[in-house]
Amino acid sequence: MKTDIEIAQEATLKPIAHIAQSLNLTTDDWEPYGHTKAKLSDKLLTKYENKPDGKVILVTAISPTPAGEGKSTVTVGLGQALNKIGKKAIIALREPSLGPVMGIKGGAAGGGYSQVLPMEEINLHFTGDLHAITSANNVLAAMIDNHIHQGNKLQIDPRRIEFKRVMDVNDRALREIVVGLGGPLKGIPRQDGFNITVASEIMAILCLANDLEDLKKRISNIVIGYTYNEEPVYVRDLEVEGALTLLLKDAIKPNLVQTIENTPAIIHGGPFANIAHGCNSIIATKTAAKLGDYVVTEAGFGADLGAEKFLDIKTRAGDFEPDAVVIVATIRALKMNGGISKEQLTEENIDALKAGMENLQKHVETIQHFGLPFVVAINKFPTDTKNEVEYLKAWCDENNYQVALTDVWAKGGEGGVELAEKIVQTIDTSEKNFKHVYELEDSLETKIEKIVHNVYGGKGVEFSTQAKKQLEFYKQQGWDQLPVCMAKTQYSLSDNPTLLGRPRDFTITIREFRPSIGAGFIVALTGDIMTMPGLPKKPAALNMDVTDDGKIVGLF
Ligand code: ADP
Repeated sequence: MKTDIEIAQEATLKPIAHIAQSLNLTTDDWEPYGHTKAKLSDKLLTKYENKPDGKVILVTAISPTPAGEGKSTVTVGLGQALNKIGKKAIIALREPSLGPVMGIKGGAAGGGYSQVLPMEEINLHFTGDLHAITSANNVLAAMIDNHIHQGNKLQIDPRRIEFKRVMDVNDRALREIVVGLGGPLKGIPRQDGFNITVASEIMAILCLANDLEDLKKRISNIVIGYTYNEEPVYVRDLEVEGALTLLLKDAIKPNLVQTIENTPAIIHGGPFANIAHGCNSIIATKTAAKLGDYVVTEAGFGADLGAEKFLDIKTRAGDFEPDAVVIVATIRALKMNGGISKEQLTEENIDALKAGMENLQKHVETIQHFGLPFVVAINKFPTDTKNEVEYLKAWCDENNYQVALTDVWAKGGEGGVELAEKIVQTIDTSEKNFKHVYELEDSLETKIEKIVHNVYGGKGVEFSTQAKKQLEFYKQQGWDQLPVCMAKTQYSLSDNPTLLGRPRDFTITIREFRPSIGAGFIVALTGDIMTMPGLPKKPAALNMDVTDDGKIVGLF
């Protein structure tokens, strides 16, 4: 079997100018970044203000397992398949972070014959957006320490600084550090730490901003920490929002690339899906909707996390609605949700599959709760047996759920034609009654209770003493009218990663809150969430190389 990079290297890419022309873009609308990448103007949304939007299809999934679900692969494959059946489709995806690429994750550019290209560049430095975000973040960090060193007019308490430095490398040694050591000329010593770039609030802001003005406004609202009197200190107090926006003036422009089958793809922004909302930028999704008749986009993790945040946070910030949802399921992940181990996945096991269906059922109910039409996509793996596939299809038929077997990983767009036809038909014939799970006017407690009841299927929420204290403070600050961004394990509908399938009667415990006022949400933490990952014992980096004549090997 060929690896993803081998398949990618055999593909014939069109010059990016051809892709831009196929979208009827004029030379003012885009600028080339090499031969196969381009930046689109961030003014396209204004230019096409009066043009009707294409249909937005959100790709989400059942609860992820180590068996892999293939959301990005299905997203890319569906975009290719829509073009195959004569529709003008564009894909909108997140850009990968370098840290996990060097670790264990594998690429984030799809897989097999449903990949976005040039995958090696997309997975490595791409167009430099993550570098720009890292720089903006670290300029702010330096400005904070400099402000304290230069007399601390704002009375920032060095023990209460929340804003951390970032880099786009998995480096556990930098999680907790001490800065400012070495005497009076070297600053004020304080405990600090690094997050990975994609966990920076600036990444979340870039993805939720509608334009440059909105970007600046959101940056000015970042809370960097608190004064000795425990008052919040904002970026606007440091008067640095202008410089940070300047550093992001190109990063805000969405990146245009193509798939293996030359379908246009916009890849832009990639925030964490736990302490942030886990979706590509609003500018990318909305620009794609102006340029195509269909946009296929994805949200991180399962429907309980990614889709909920897409639907409750991103659609609010961008003032748009999706038209349909694809729920990706794999036989492998369903069987793991049904209680068997990763090692047993290659054997046929209808009982485990049957037991795992409860997980799919819950995610279907969630999408129904949001009032959106959907199609279940079975992402076919080589190990799936005929009986297992038939069982899953029959289960969907019995429940009257639209279902399509997709083989886009092995066959590209051709393997997704049934899914493409069903999603188009679903959009054309279904009534959409989209509604959010909570209202912005609800208190933070009520918002979380509604998510736990309607999305996770749990029975209640408990708040730690610290969380209760924070709730009081947030109310005083007027922060309780913001959406909630849940930071919960992706493996379970509950906050216990070992409870797979469909746990019931569970309670979620909110340990702590974190304000992301610039991004425009309050993060609710249910447990320890890692914001600087580490590398595994055998990092993926050990397999990677570049030959003397410049050929890349071992990148998945
Ligand atoms: P997700 O977006 O859910 O994280 P990806 O689409 O990135 O998942 O896929 C994860 C990995 O699984 C990739 O390496 C991809 O090549 C592989 N993969 C996805 N779908 C299939 C499939 N149907 N058969 C074999 N491998 C697949």
